[in-house]
Amino acid sequence: MHKATLDYAKQQDILDELSNYRNQFHIPKDKHGNELIYMTGNSLGLQPKQTKAYIDQELEDWANLGVEGHTEAKNPWLPYHEFLAESMANVVGAKPIEVVTMNTLTANLHLMMVSFYKPTKTRYKIIIESDAFPSDKYAVESQLRHHGFDDKEGLILWKPRKNEELLRYEDLEAILEKHGNEVALVMIGGVNYYTGQYFDLKRIAKLGHKHQCMVGFDCAHGAGNVALNLHDSGADFAVWCTYKYLNSGPGSLAGCFVHEKHAYNKGLNRFTGWWSHNKQTRFNMRQEFDVLPGAEGWQLSNPPILSMAAIKASLDIFNELGMKKLTDKSKKLTGYFEFLLKQLGEDTIKIITPTNPEARGCQLSIQVLNANKSLHNKLTEAGVISDWREPDVIRCAPTPLYNSFQDVYHMVDKLKKIIREKTYID
Ligand SMILES: *Cc1c(COP(=O)(O)O)cnc(C)c1O
Repeated sequence: MHKATLDYAKQQDILDELSNYRNQFHIPKDKHGNELIYMTGNSLGLQPKQTKAYIDQELEDWANLGVEGHTEAKNPWLPYHEFLAESMANVVGAKPIEVVTMNTLTANLHLMMVSFYKPTKTRYKIIIESDAFPSDKYAVESQLRHHGFDDKEGLILWKPRKNEELLRYEDLEAILEKHGNEVALVMIGGVNYYTGQYFDLKRIAKLGHKHQCMVGFDCAHGAGNVALNLHDSGADFAVWCTYKYLNSGPGSLAGCFVHEKHAYNKGLNRFTGWWSHNKQTRFNMRQEFDVLPGAEGWQLSNPPILSMAAIKASLDIFNELGMKKLTDKSKKLTGYFEFLLKQLGEDTIKIITPTNPEARGCQLSIQVLNANKSLHNKLTEAGVISDWREPDVIRCAPTPLYNSFQDVYHMVDKLKKIIREKTYID
């Protein structure tokens, strides 16, 4: 049984096999040089100490080799994205042919919809969560308009029931029973950014496919956080960014998954560029277009190597560790966090994230009774970096790579003091 004491938290850190990974990251400090309690890996992951060396390597090769670096660099730039494929595939539970690192998240979502949102006059609607991440909502709305449909009429929202926060599969089932023959695409956030609910991807994919809809997931909050098993999910496509749990730096490149069942389908419509073309004849320049098999066949451009080097630095850590050990620790750490929060009293604190560890990642979304944004500001002043979402939710993501049981203990301890003082109430 857990204990709400600092000694217990320290003991858990000693028992934690992964505790040394924290030393591989730069932990931000306050102006007195004390380490902050960083709980926003769901927004921007911390910098691995080795990232600098990976980027320096490419800067050096560029300085010394110029254009020859494409083939002569220590990690030749021409095939650089291939060095990421296997580790990235392991992180999201896919086959290497199914993943590629390219562009940014929302751009990839659009590219995927070019191929997998193929509306007809009668089947053109898109289902998303009512609380989808704004960028995803804007992206699907613009796709509807792009194809000449009304973006309100064409969008179906999967909503929580009255006085509930989480989504129920029965309700998605009911929507599909009623409207399934009008729906072209089901596009869901694999882990909802607001509630932290981790969906059963396989169940959703099955449901969508039963009604002949394409199914895609935005896994921005899932990649590097939960064991996504994208291949087994059967989803047609997925996209994610690498700057959240994958610690690859602000605005870094994004991931893209296209299920193996589509890997050799040259007939799939897509937007293309020279990087989607056959590698053997890419530089002949005058060839008819010949698409690459697999997710690589959706690339457009030669990619930014400096950003990819940061991704490689991060993926090498994930690769060494493996997702199993990571998610095992994550469940313990978030379980302890939940335990401590519950000590504050369920009439003061409500956790809207699922209580089932299989239905969430590391993030807990917390509502504090009568709180407004000044509660969050107080937490920040106390050295806790968390994330506030209107109207009243604090999102905290203790990540298993660099957060400790002591971090979680101190965070809740500080929250407790602020709540006792009640200085945050209007
Ligand atoms: C973080 C996030 C985004 C951000 O999109 P960018 O294209 O990387 O700016 C989009 N969707 C979801 C679900 C996210 O969590």
